[in-house]
Amino acid sequence: MNSDLSELYQSVILDHNKSPRNFKELPDATAHAEGRNPLCGDAYTVWLRMEGDHIAEASFQGNGCAISKASASLMTTAVKGRTMAEAEALFDQFHEMLTGGATDLSGMPNGVKALTGVKAFPMRVKCATLSWHAMRQALHAEK
Ligand code: ZN
Repeated sequence: MNSDLSELYQSVILDHNKSPRNFKELPDATAHAEGRNPLCGDAYTVWLRMEGDHIAEASFQGNGCAISKASASLMTTAVKGRTMAEAEALFDQFHEMLTGGATDLSGMPNGVKALTGVKAFPMRVKCATLSWHAMRQALHAEK
């Protein structure tokens, strides 16, 4: 990764940490799940409002490090409007991107790709995947 690109990626993470999107409770949520990372102290709740098979709304609240918060913000933005199957596929892609080094990132929003740099810091991978696991857990609770 060249340094311009990594600066761009960093600015996405800083932006989402400073002004997290969908950072609110969802009173009419149809499912929710909590995620914790005791190693870092990250703790979040993720809410989903399903309309049939679609995620009509996604939100989160909680506290944690910049990576965990930015990732949760990016996650809620990325899954909104997707079907359950699409959100699951995106989860798999994201998880692979950070742990297995998947090369096929087609269909992944650019913002989410900004988190690819986290791969170089194995201790922080949990920070990044925390809210995604919670999202998937909420999806499964919905089924
Ligand atoms: Zn963290």
